[in-house]
Amino acid sequence: MPSLFDMPITKLPGIGIEKAKLYHKLNIDSVGQLIRFYPRDYTDYTKVSRISEVRDGDKAVIKAVVLSPVTDTLLHGGRLMSKTVIGDGTGKLELVFFNNRYIKSMLKSDQEYFFTGKISFSQFTAQMVSPSFSGLSDFDYIEPVYRLTARLTNRMVIKSVKDALMMLPKDMKDPIPSYILERFDLCSLEYALKNIHFPHSFKALERARNRLVFEELLVLILGMRFLKKRNRKKTSVRFEKDYTNQFIKTLPYELTNAQKRAVIDTVNDMMNSDSPMHRLVQGDVGSGKTAVAAAVCYNTVKNGYQVAFMAPTEILAEQHYNNFLNMFKGFDINISLLTGSLSQKEKNTVRKSIENGDTDIVIGTHAIITDSTVFRKLGCAITDEQHRFGVEQRARLSQKGESPHVLVLSATPIPRTLGLIIYGDLDISVMDEMPPGRKPVRTVLINSSKRNDALNFIKRNISEGKQAYIVCPLVESGEMDAFDVNSYSEALMRSGFEDCPIGILHGKLKAKEKEEIMRMFVNNDLSLLISTTVIEVGVDVKNANIMMIENAEHFGLSQLHQLRGRVGRGADESFCILVSDKMNDATKERLSVMVRTSDGFDIADEDLKQRGPGDLFGNKQHGLPSLNIADLSDMDNVRQSQSAASEILSKSPDLSMDELRGLKAEIRMLYRNVSDDILN
Ligand code: ADP
Ligand code: MG
Repeated sequence: MPSLFDMPITKLPGIGIEKAKLYHKLNIDSVGQLIRFYPRDYTDYTKVSRISEVRDGDKAVIKAVVLSPVTDTLLHGGRLMSKTVIGDGTGKLELVFFNNRYIKSMLKSDQEYFFTGKISFSQFTAQMVSPSFSGLSDFDYIEPVYRLTARLTNRMVIKSVKDALMMLPKDMKDPIPSYILERFDLCSLEYALKNIHFPHSFKALERARNRLVFEELLVLILGMRFLKKRNRKKTSVRFEKDYTNQFIKTLPYELTNAQKRAVIDTVNDMMNSDSPMHRLVQGDVGSGKTAVAAAVCYNTVKNGYQVAFMAPTEILAEQHYNNFLNMFKGFDINISLLTGSLSQKEKNTVRKSIENGDTDIVIGTHAIITDSTVFRKLGCAITDEQHRFGVEQRARLSQKGESPHVLVLSATPIPRTLGLIIYGDLDISVMDEMPPGRKPVRTVLINSSKRNDALNFIKRNISEGKQAYIVCPLVESGEMDAFDVNSYSEALMRSGFEDCPIGILHGKLKAKEKEEIMRMFVNNDLSLLISTTVIEVGVDVKNANIMMIENAEHFGLSQLHQLRGRVGRGADESFCILVSDKMNDATKERLSVMVRTSDGFDIADEDLKQRGPGDLFGNKQHGLPSLNIADLSDMDNVRQSQSAASEILSKSPDLSMDELRGLKAEIRMLYRNVSDDILN
């Protein structure tokens, strides 16, 4: 099998340079890749519908005769429309095709075909628009449907996949060891590959898919374990002394037990091992991760090294910076801020002081990882809200030193099994405890009819000296039917909130403006902040105790949870008001999870179930290799593959056993974009 990945696709009959270019658009260059190009769907020719029985919107397969010759009509703007009528004895159906001048020669009168497509009922007739069709002789009972590109038809791909499958070696070796196949009741790779493309039955298809999903997850998990090991290169950054107590006694509060444990974990990592720390501190919003990071920074600096602390947004970096200035007051420690919005001159000055060692702690955004930032002696690289950064960016940050310690802070409560995969290369400290005195945020779900009550409530609250947030999905009106911060604040300023200092915050403002507004809100010069989700991460204003979210149906649960985490940080009772008028049952059920629980892990589980991992992490930023067939939200499969991975590694920790050669090749292949050679 691996050698088929070296065989160019042009080796297949009928594929020349031109066609190979089309396949290249689908990321297929080799025979092996074509074999691994699984169908996106299947047409079930075993279930043929009668025309008399189909309904509007059905996706149907119909076996019917072409009743009239195809007619071509030239439409306005030069589009070609071809039409014909088919019948199956129970009724007639009109077929419509656009811009396909070959239809006329391909569909012959009085001949019988299978037609597959969506039925639409217009005023006068039942239609199928641009159905696919095949002659009776050349269909398979369950036919694969492939992702296509212009000028490459499904039929061509089917033919080439069949040719490719013929090239599978006769006595194909299975990359998964036989004891694992048996234990988890999996079919062979050969059976799986044949049946994923051309299943004998839906049962066979399921067995094939099952095996391929298992394999892909297994390869993913094994790779992650190696990534973890690989990062364990020796480091010279070894701390001599634990300075934690010096630092924490200056804090205005006592650390929670969870914070203490996290600090002890990190100090252990940094003092007692030859390899650098690779630790994730995972704690729900408000659990106090910043203080843990500060303790790590203090230890690093006192041991003679520099720290780089990277945050995903400027506001957050600035807030950490101000926080740190405060916490490190009275210590002889230099802290610098490095963000994209500094002037070139300011950046140069900061970079110079990082290079010559004057700066002990640099806090900033992506600006830190550009080539022009050079550290004199980087001892520790910290990233906040890590799920916004990929494995790649984290690696670039730590390359700024010689195997520095790495600390990652994350507030995204990821379902635990998933966390193990996504952060497979990290040790984890979970902070499962909130600083004392926190009351759960009271959450209510309302519709527009109650909006005025809610706004009056906010007004009363503000007149008592407190502050509030209102979140809208949009910056300006337009795009979609939802509130935007600009019109919303204008409306409030006109009626009811004339005397209330209101600030507006959104991503289109300049960093300086954002900072200014945030600072005013922090200083309580603004009572009400009307914002998009830019306040989602990190910002901390204890005096704010109401979070109202308009068009709540637009947001994912994890996002709502993050937003809600902005309040409930002080001693006062806090409220989260979710407003939505688009509440069908599903939305209502989804949003009511927020009312039911404040446990970030529960919410993440629910979010994952409802929306899948893609949404949870926002596109592909988590830095995992992209998966072909497996789905990380399928916890049962993930768990099975995890236990198989452990079993394999317990027998052969470096995968050197001969029967694991195929698996190793697959690991290299999956991780080729993440790492040059993951197994070394
Ligand atoms: P997050 O984990 O979301 O980053 P922060 O570090 O911003 O949380 O902390 C949230 C708030 O809790 C901050 O105002 C911080 O000063 C406060 N805090 C942190 N630790 C404690 C503690 N042990 N006791 C009391 N307050 C704390
Ligand atoms: Mg934080």
